[in-house]
Amino acid sequence: MQKDFEDKVAVVTGAGSGIGVAIAHELAARGALVVTADLDERAAAAVSKAIANKGGRAKPFAVDVSDADAVARMVDFAVQTGGGLHLAVNNAGIGGPSAPLGEYPLDGWRQVIDVNLNGVFYGLRHQIPAMLESGGGAIVNMASILGSVGFANAGAYVAAKHAVVGMTKTAAMEYGDKGVRINAVGPGFVDTPLLSKNLDAETIGQLAALHPIGRIGRPEEVSALTCFLLSDRASFITGSYHLVDGAYTAR
Ligand code: NAP
Repeated sequence: MQKDFEDKVAVVTGAGSGIGVAIAHELAARGALVVTADLDERAAAAVSKAIANKGGRAKPFAVDVSDADAVARMVDFAVQTGGGLHLAVNNAGIGGPSAPLGEYPLDGWRQVIDVNLNGVFYGLRHQIPAMLESGGGAIVNMASILGSVGFANAGAYVAAKHAVVGMTKTAAMEYGDKGVRINAVGPGFVDTPLLSKNLDAETIGQLAALHPIGRIGRPEEVSALTCFLLSDRASFITGSYHLVDGAYTAR
């Protein structure tokens, strides 16, 4: 694999499971020093260890992205560990309760917005200044197909992901001429614990059928797009929302 991230320090949230694991591994394989940040401290440590076993560089960090102070500490840790911050993926996310908006539980709403929206804001709030200090950088915010279309019984998730897309566009306008590129990625349904922990096989099969490609995605397919957007090959790409969805939204 090309070592195009050799001099880069990266932070990936939600790096202990699913899509975040794939992104952390690809960034490290391409030469980056990766901070694997997750609510699940043991999972973050296991991913760092797996990267080190393959000859890569990674350090775990326990973080709750809905806690602004904890996110600040995560960014400080990355800067102190690697001497700067150049790449960030705000990927941690949760599904939240399943209910129509007229009955949506208020505590569930607040939790989804706290993690999936506020968590991304706290990331940007601390990563951008660190990248400006480090001579520039690139950020990917993990949205979803549900950043552009609705989905019944997932109102909080859909609202948060739409907001992440808008926040991404705004941040890119603010920092494009200062050397920080910011994009959003919109995966279709992907084979991760987020799905397998919450849905039975029959439901996952029904979701797969909604993708004209005929299946759900793999974490590595989301990582490939994310790492491209973080790379210098995407030097004119900022402020945009990129789908990796097996034509889900083309229907
Ligand atoms: P996942 O397998 O559940 O992984 C998410 C990771 O984030 C878990 O390790 C989780 O820890 C962690 N996390 C949860 N809340 C956190 C918090 N407050 N602070 C820090 N870490 C936290 O999910 P995934 O499918 O890889 O999803 C990753 C991202 O892709 C999410 O933003 C999700 O919305 C988005 N996405 C997923 C799909 C899909 O179909 N899988 C589709 C579109 C978009 P715990 O396990 O301890 O909770």
